[in-house]
Amino acid sequence: MAEDTPVPCYLIRTDDGRVVLIDTGFAPAAVAATREPGYQGPPLRDYVSVVDQLPPLGVRPEDVDILVATHLDSDHAGMTDAFPNAEIVIQRAMYEAARAASHPRYAMTRAQWDAPGLRYRPVDGDTELAPGVTLIETGGHVPGHQSVLVRLPQTGPVLLAIDAVVSVGQADPETRERPQAARPGGARGGGPDRLRTRWPPVANPPAGPGVLRLMVIA
Ligand SMILES: [Zn+2]
Repeated sequence: MAEDTPVPCYLIRTDDGRVVLIDTGFAPAAVAATREPGYQGPPLRDYVSVVDQLPPLGVRPEDVDILVATHLDSDHAGMTDAFPNAEIVIQRAMYEAARAASHPRYAMTRAQWDAPGLRYRPVDGDTELAPGVTLIETGGHVPGHQSVLVRLPQTGPVLLAIDAVVSVGQADPETRERPQAARPGGARGGGPDRLRTRWPPVANPPAGPGVLRLMVIA
């Protein structure tokens, strides 16, 4: 992971009162491991867990109605089990790939995303989640990766591309790099190319490390 790579989660309140959380960041144990003496991996700076960022927003974990799992990489699914009342919406291709394989990419946080009692709702392709919130299937980074298109009354459409567009170098639709193709657990095609053809103004809102972004749809 490149330095200064954010680990964003997003919180959406819909105008019918539902609380939608998108992704959950690293597992607590993974965060703790980065602070152990002798840790050799990339530093994790200014990281605050999504659970710890909710109270200032007046949200408790049990208030989250819908949890969008964009995909099950360790920096996105590490606290999936912390939201007891949430229905977890995931692309079926991602869910089945992760459950079927013992690939370390998904095994790293399996205890969290496959914890007993979690309620998953697999979806197939683009899905209207709530008025103004649409899931866009952008497989490529992994099978069944999904981005989230949010239509805000003041700002207009905002595309949370997540890992379909992982760097600034991919933000411009004209110069965007090709999708990551050969990563373990990944798949060719999809991802940024799909966003280029369908949603040219890709705008992963900037976020600092570990920043939870709040969006209000009203
Ligand atoms: Zn990822």
